[in-house]
This record gives sequence, C-alpha cells and structure tokens, in this order.
Amino acid sequence: MTEPRIHWIDSHCHLDLAVFDLDRALVLKRAQALGVRQLVIPAVTRRGWSQLLHCCTASPALYPALGLHPMFQDEHTKEDLIALERALDDPTVIAVGEIGLDFHKPVPDRSTQQDFFRCQLAIAHQASLPVLLHVRKAHDVALSILRQADVCGGIVHAFNGSLQQARQYNDLGFKLGFGGMLSLPQSRKLQRLVRDLPLATLVLETDAPDLSGFGHQDQRNSPEFLPEYGRCLAQLRGLEPAALADIVCSNTCDVLRLH
Ligand SMILES: [Zn+2]
Repeated sequence: MTEPRIHWIDSHCHLDLAVFDLDRALVLKRAQALGVRQLVIPAVTRRGWSQLLHCCTASPALYPALGLHPMFQDEHTKEDLIALERALDDPTVIAVGEIGLDFHKPVPDRSTQQDFFRCQLAIAHQASLPVLLHVRKAHDVALSILRQADVCGGIVHAFNGSLQQARQYNDLGFKLGFGGMLSLPQSRKLQRLVRDLPLATLVLETDAPDLSGFGHQDQRNSPEFLPEYGRCLAQLRGLEPAALADIVCSNTCDVLRLH
C-alpha cells in the first residue's frame, strides 16, 4: 500500500462496540493505512464507558467521548449523571457525547430526554468540553435548549435538518457532521445542503457500524470507508479531495481542540 498523502478524521465512530470485537485492531490499521489518522469514539450508555476508555488506550489515534445517548434513555439514571461528572476527570476524554434528543419514535420520555440533555450540557460546560450531539426529529427543541445553555461548541453528528437549522447551530458554535448518507442516490436534499453550507462548518464522520454509504449498504460501516465519503463530499463541493480533507480536518481539530 502506498503512503497516504491525505489526512482524514473520523469525528464519530463506534469502534468500541462488540461488532468490532473480532477485528478491531485490523480495522483501525486498515483505516490508518488509508489516511484516517484520528478517530473520535463517542459513548452510548454508562455501561459501555469502561470498555470504550479501554479500547481507546490501544492507540493514540483514538479519542474517547463520554455521555448518555438519548436513544437509550430507559437505561440512564440520575447516578449516571453524577458518574459522568466524575468520569470527565480522565484527561484523555475530549468531549461529552453522544448526547441530545431523539423524537423519531413516539416515546413517552421526551421531557426526561430534555432533562438529561440540559444536565449533560451543564456538565460539559463545567468541564470546558465540547459536545457531540445526536438530534433526530427534534432540532428546534434542541436549538432552544442550546440557546439557554452555556456551551463550548461541538458537532451535530449525522446532521439531517434544514439549512436554517444548520445556520442556527453554526451561530451557537457547532459544526455539522456528514458521512455515508451523502453518497446515496436518494440523498438529494442532503447533497444540496452540504453544497449550500459554508465549508468552515463541515466535518466528516462514519458513525460506524451504522449509516453505511454507497456500495456498502449491506455491510457493517467502517472507518475504512471515511476516505470514500470524503471524496464524495469533495466532489459535491467541486474541490480536490486533498484540499477538502485539509479544511474538514482543521474544522474538526478546531471544534474538538485536537492537535
Ligand atoms: Zn453515534
């Protein structure tokens, strides 16, 4: 394999999950050989935090984030919030995430999700850390909570809202994450959105093992595919991949304070 000249960052990758247990080191090695030099690993539930932190000790390329994911609200308790505050003493943790709101299914716990979101925003701000947001069918509610909170910026992962909502997140110091969905033929609206947004607001992600892009729909998504998604974004923006990669990497490093 030739030495990659392009440097990519996967700003959202669940490499800690069990689905990578059999080949995690190999997947990381292959992704790195393709130029993916840094990967941010966001958490889902407190139960997974120790495995996540352990997984990230395998390589300095892996950056852990800790938080309580809104899709798993049933599993979270008030004690988890106290545990989160304490867990952020670990200096390797670079962000609080993934946190947010998910109103996709008619769930009875919308107000609990909002309480946990507010609390985790406060915990992140107290620790001076950015946040990784998961927001589905709830952008206006999330934006109004963010406006009332103190935040150190962050990333809205797998963004799929409107241009107006995107701009409101940008005004609050947020970048927007895009990945495999960009490469699907049915993603016209998303493709138009990434053409209209300022380049300085875009970051790349896979969300592996979910949200596989074109050519991989039946496969486990993987950080190895990030350069493909990056080339797709470059094409949509009419840029050379190397030029696009430089911009999105510096966007990611700025907002997450990586170096
Ligand atoms: Zn995720």
